[in-house]
Amino acid sequence: MKKIVVFSGAGISAESGIQTFRDSDGLWENYNIYEVATPQAWKNNPQLVLEFYNARLKQIINCKPNLAHTLIADWQNFFDVQVITQNIDDLHERAGSQKVLHLHGEIMKARSSVDESLLYPLTDKGILWGDFCAKGSQLRPNVVWFGEEVPNMLKATEIVSDADVLIVVGSSLRVYPAAGLLQYVKKKTLIYLIDPAKVETSIKNIVHIQNKATEGLQKLHHLFIQNTSHIQG
Ligand code: NAD
Repeated sequence: MKKIVVFSGAGISAESGIQTFRDSDGLWENYNIYEVATPQAWKNNPQLVLEFYNARLKQIINCKPNLAHTLIADWQNFFDVQVITQNIDDLHERAGSQKVLHLHGEIMKARSSVDESLLYPLTDKGILWGDFCAKGSQLRPNVVWFGEEVPNMLKATEIVSDADVLIVVGSSLRVYPAAGLLQYVKKKTLIYLIDPAKVETSIKNIVHIQNKATEGLQKLHHLFIQNTSHIQG
């Protein structure tokens, strides 16, 4: 079975009503990202960090997967589909994708601030100051902040290096190390990029479909499913 790897960024969730980071003028809904999404921010003002992520969590719970998420899930009927996402939302999972690797964590979980293996599912209440893990330390959002290591990076490079087709959707390819993933594709891998904006990359042979995620994925759906010989070879 052909292996399709989808590498998604904030743009895939834009049509579900979740703002991207850069498209909102450097502010993510009135917060300075460096005051809420760095280890230093957690040290300086953990209550503000919790307020920010609790608001994101509520917003994400109220959003639904869009056609882009559901088309990718539908492809599982035809191909081996693996999603690698930079997003902290759970819209790929809610659309039905079975294999989703989160590079930057998952907002629907809290984690211990002393032991990253201790994870706790969250409700719409989010994390409150004074919510502790089993080891007695404050819970923090299970997200990878700017300046922190990306623990799933090695797994992601292995997945990408095994892809027959790589589809990058809604990513400015400016957040590293995630953006470096494209360096790991095989020579014969077909690479598509779906983004309405011009995206800078040094990778050659990328087919840029300059559309929104839902439109671009419908074009690929047509190409892959109604003309399966294109990638079944
Ligand atoms: P990004 O680097 O992935 O850039 C967003 C890209 O989406 C841009 O290139 C933009 O042109 C494109 N875009 C906008 N609308 C689109 C649409 N309708 N269809 C397709 N593409 C569209 O992401 P970012 O916004 O720079 O955020 C950086 C990091 O912040 C992410 O990697 C993520 O960890 C986090 N973030 C997560 C979410 C989420 O979970 N939904 C949302 C915002 C930011």
